[in-house]
Amino acid sequence: MTATKYAVGIDLGGTFIKFALVAGSGEIVFSGKLAIGPAASREDILETIGQAIKMTLQAATEKALPVAGIGIGSPGVCCNGTVVGGAENLNGWVDVRLSEIFSEAFRLPVLVDNDANVMGLGEAVYGAAKDCSDVIFLTVGTGIGGAIIASGKLYGGYQNRGTEMGHVTIDHKGIACNCGGRGCLEAYASTSALIRDYAVATGRSEEELDGFFLVQQYQQGEPAAVKCMQEHADYLGHGIAGFINTFAPQKVVIGGGISESGQFYIDLIREAAFRYAMPDCAVNTDVVAAALGNQAGCLGAASLVFKAC
Ligand SMILES: [Zn+2]
Repeated sequence: MTATKYAVGIDLGGTFIKFALVAGSGEIVFSGKLAIGPAASREDILETIGQAIKMTLQAATEKALPVAGIGIGSPGVCCNGTVVGGAENLNGWVDVRLSEIFSEAFRLPVLVDNDANVMGLGEAVYGAAKDCSDVIFLTVGTGIGGAIIASGKLYGGYQNRGTEMGHVTIDHKGIACNCGGRGCLEAYASTSALIRDYAVATGRSEEELDGFFLVQQYQQGEPAAVKCMQEHADYLGHGIAGFINTFAPQKVVIGGGISESGQFYIDLIREAAFRYAMPDCAVNTDVVAAALGNQAGCLGAASLVFKAC
């Protein structure tokens, strides 16, 4: 093993840019975040990313640590260092040549991938699926995002346009989905869907509910919460079973706020997934909670660099 390498990890979100200086071992030696307002333009966002990189490189210089490159996780479809589209929550975030812009500015290699992909890679390299070569990562929140790591590499399909794990159909005559399709996993098994179903079951308004409240109600044995949570696990289990049958992963890693509600939640999902998966495909699979929390993005972005050099 050669001397320890370091990389800049940038996690671009809808409201914050998180940044970190990461060692090859996964140790974070410097980190921070900068806010981006809802009105931020494409130029504002690029300037803030530049500022984040500059601060991180400065920290590396002060500590006399060699930096091998910069990794960036961005919302949207990312192909060959460019965000080509699909990032509706960032203004003007189409045809953004992130790799070109920042490799010229900082004279370092710049690797770019989709934010969910990068989080999944982070979990596979440093987190809940450390040392696994075949991993399915799902983030359950307002929607369902995900990543596939196959034979140690992110798998994105041709031009990296695939792995929309929330948009596989689980009911072909089902409810309309935000993607324009019908009956998608996301429309049934996201945290938003869970809250919607509980609101319908109890006659409450969705605005007064959140995932945390539902988990509390479930743990107290409130019948509607128990029913909705079991259905949520059943929906998610169906989706995961399909991923297990297709990819035979060693780990299915569940991230997103609700995955942090306790082992009972992961147990519910695991049980449902194994109920529907083909035993021969699932024999080496475990279903586990994500381990890196809100650091997954920066760690995964940095690992793009370590994987490339
Ligand atoms: Zn959909």
